[in-house]
Amino acid sequence: MSKAQETVLEINLKSVEQNYKYLKSKLQENTRFMGVVKAYAYGSESLKISQKLIALGADYLAVAYTNEGVILREAGIKVPILVLHAQEVSFKTIIEKCLEPNLYSERILKGFIATAEKLGQKNYPVHLKFNTGLNRLGFNETDIPNIIKILSKTDAIKVTSIFSHLAASEDLNERKFTENQISKFNSIAKKIDLGLNYIPFKHLANTSGILNYPEAHFDMVRSGIGINGFGNSLAEDQNFKPVSTLKTSISQIHHLEPNESVGYNMAFTSNKKMITATLPIGHADGIGRIYGNGKGIVSVNGKMAPIVGNTCMDMIMIDITDINCNEGDEVIIFGNKPTANEFAENAGTISYELITGISQRVKRLIIES
Ligand SMILES: *Cc1c(COP(=O)(O)O)cnc(C)c1O
Repeated sequence: MSKAQETVLEINLKSVEQNYKYLKSKLQENTRFMGVVKAYAYGSESLKISQKLIALGADYLAVAYTNEGVILREAGIKVPILVLHAQEVSFKTIIEKCLEPNLYSERILKGFIATAEKLGQKNYPVHLKFNTGLNRLGFNETDIPNIIKILSKTDAIKVTSIFSHLAASEDLNERKFTENQISKFNSIAKKIDLGLNYIPFKHLANTSGILNYPEAHFDMVRSGIGINGFGNSLAEDQNFKPVSTLKTSISQIHHLEPNESVGYNMAFTSNKKMITATLPIGHADGIGRIYGNGKGIVSVNGKMAPIVGNTCMDMIMIDITDINCNEGDEVIIFGNKPTANEFAENAGTISYELITGISQRVKRLIIES
């Protein structure tokens, strides 16, 4: 591990490998694996993570929006890429870049068929998404007859897979809800298989679905947060390795007298003699205002130091009164300790939001081994 001079996000590809292997160990041998690399692979680095996943044997990648898939194609990624949130404006680009759209409504299905026909496509691979309870994107089960009718009139597209998404796979108190989603999906799958004269493959489980619902693995699983090293529970987190470490260093140390304020708007006032350190990272880097005023706690030489006062755009100040440290010393914002989960939860948010929010100003440093 390098000693940070500036703020860096270290991305450990060895950890990606460990996480992938752990997830794979939960699957049947022939279950396919889709690496979800949307949002810069959850705030890390989508190309390097994608290349690593492909080298490890991942069958598919998924991105949220078309432009994310274009970046991967232009960097030479050849495996199939599902665009989870295909939009009408990007249908032409999707076909030009050999991306595979999720078609989730009649408007989107008909619009994509029209584009595929116009571009002279035959059996262009598409994926149909069904709503089984999340009520976000997807056809309803009752739409199936209409879908079959629309599909029967064209050979421009071919349904490669059908899928749905679980709303609470990490929450075992919602087991009933999830089981209902799984049984709905089974019923949809049966109707689709009957209505088409071929059998598309099926997928439903995200990371927590993989871990908690083996009966929901179907033909393929989709993992994003797991690849990045989080199991969505304290017990499962032990089986993963966080991929990203956000580190920085102390720019300046201040010795305060009692009754001195720190930072903008006097959000913090010392009630004793204390020592603070200023760090070169702020809300423009993804450490938002919610982490200010003691909610964010970072690690300095193995000791925990809370953020004092408001988060500034480019800096934060931390309390190092009881910590033996110097200007230039390394500071871990999150990594192994605190984990992104711990750092986020203390401020009332989740690791997904924290890690995907690390801005592009922060240099990414790939660690191969
Ligand atoms: C983001 C996403 C995933 C990945 O979920 P994780 O919980 O990060 O594994 C899977 N499927 C869909 C449809 C998604 O949007």
